[in-house]
Amino acid sequence: MVGQSEKKGKVIVVSGPSGVGKSTICKEVVNRLSDVQLSVSVTTRTKSESETDGKDYWFITREDFQKRIRQDLLLEYAEVFGNMYGTPRDKIDEAIKAGKSVILEIDVQGGKQAKDIYRDAVMIFILPPSQKELKQRMDGRGRENVEIAEERLNGASEEIAVAWQYYHHMVINDDLETAIKEVVEIIKNNTGEE
Ligand code: 5GP
Repeated sequence: MVGQSEKKGKVIVVSGPSGVGKSTICKEVVNRLSDVQLSVSVTTRTKSESETDGKDYWFITREDFQKRIRQDLLLEYAEVFGNMYGTPRDKIDEAIKAGKSVILEIDVQGGKQAKDIYRDAVMIFILPPSQKELKQRMDGRGRENVEIAEERLNGASEEIAVAWQYYHHMVINDDLETAIKEVVEIIKNNTGEE
């Protein structure tokens, strides 16, 4: 644990299966912690109606994505369910230098890459209360068809297996408010954030 006087900007990686509630938790956590911000990733996936370009993601073409890889503009990147996702490097370095922490809401492949670069990254994995619950939440989302939902569920099991090796903090999202508070505490304990 670090005190207020030793407040340190850190990379905070938050991963977990689709449908587990990562986005809701992360958005609420940044509302509650003044010196913590949320990284906005670039993706080649299609924007859904409820999403805003530049807020939820920067929606870009595959060509543009490949260009950013070549120009070394991405801190990490990975292909997830057939789409490319990546974290722009500039904002992260800027925030850390200013003593602010940044949450990367990314998959476990990207989490491993971020951990290799930022050795003191705080690694948080969000778990569903059960596989059954996860399936129910995915069915209720409406965005995916059954085939995609099944692919995502299988991916979730693999992701959870990998997570045990790289993530030191496991948070079960059984009750949303409890999960948010747990993540807030983990961040406070590791950054000195008040
Ligand atoms: P979705 O399309 O449901 O928003 O995200 C699909 C998956 O991609 C999620 O597991 C999400 O955490 C992950 N993801 C989102 N942004 C990034 C990123 O910048 N890098 C990596 N590696 N994964 C990401």
